Amino acid sequence: MNITTENRKWLDDFKLTHPLVIAGPCSAETEAQVLKIAHELKNSDVSIFRAGIWKPRTRPGGFEGVGAIGLKWLQKAKAETGLLMAVEVANAAHVKLALEHDIDVLWIGARTTVNPFAVQEIADVLRGTNKIVLVKNPVNPDLSLWIGGVERLYNAGIKKLGVIHRGFSTYEKTKYRNIPEWQLAIELQSRFPDLPLICDPSHITGRRDMILEVSQQALDLNYDGLMIETHIDPEHAWSDAAQQVTPTALKKICKDLRVKKTTV
Ligand code: PEP
Ligand code: MN
Repeated sequence: MNITTENRKWLDDFKLTHPLVIAGPCSAETEAQVLKIAHELKNSDVSIFRAGIWKPRTRPGGFEGVGAIGLKWLQKAKAETGLLMAVEVANAAHVKLALEHDIDVLWIGARTTVNPFAVQEIADVLRGTNKIVLVKNPVNPDLSLWIGGVERLYNAGIKKLGVIHRGFSTYEKTKYRNIPEWQLAIELQSRFPDLPLICDPSHITGRRDMILEVSQQALDLNYDGLMIETHIDPEHAWSDAAQQVTPTALKKICKDLRVKKTTV
């Protein structure tokens, strides 16, 4: 795989003077919730609105996402706010539906990156399209599996790729929900410098009071962007309630972050 500077163009095209910010709820819950959050994020540093429609839950019995109806809500949110829309896709059927609804950005979740068959079927459906595709690290700290996911998409002709570090699951008791392995992501970036690197402090920390600290760590390591779960009423969110922040809190986080000035 030889990722060229052409791959970075999608990020450069945003012409941002700050890191790329992707924000929105862990899960789309209702049309009103989606629209309210999107409107609150409209005039902020956020460029891409995220919402999970199909939720891969570790154990059955919980909320598994609203399904395809949520894509209609995202279309409406896009029409009303101009924000680009991002959803998680885990199989070919999800990708087909996302394409039919003009979703701009697709991301592959940690539980899907571990499965080469699933990533391959996603890549096959995306072949010939022009979507931005972001690959989260697999659940376990296996760099080859992560790179393999990117390669499957790259080989399918996807030219707007990026990766998201969301930490790795562990049996140990730590302050993190998923331990960040900064070194591993740096190794990935040093091998593929034109692959934008985004940090997901929400799933790394699992708690909103640590989002700023971990976001800052990522920016200090030259990450290109952040994906931060943002909800109008975090405490009552249908998934990941402990880690989501309000739109107001998100704006404060963006304001408080120190961004390195790159010298030309
Ligand atoms: C999510 O982004 O809501 C999600 C399920 O994340 P991950 O794949 O990182 O667990
Ligand atoms: Mn989540």
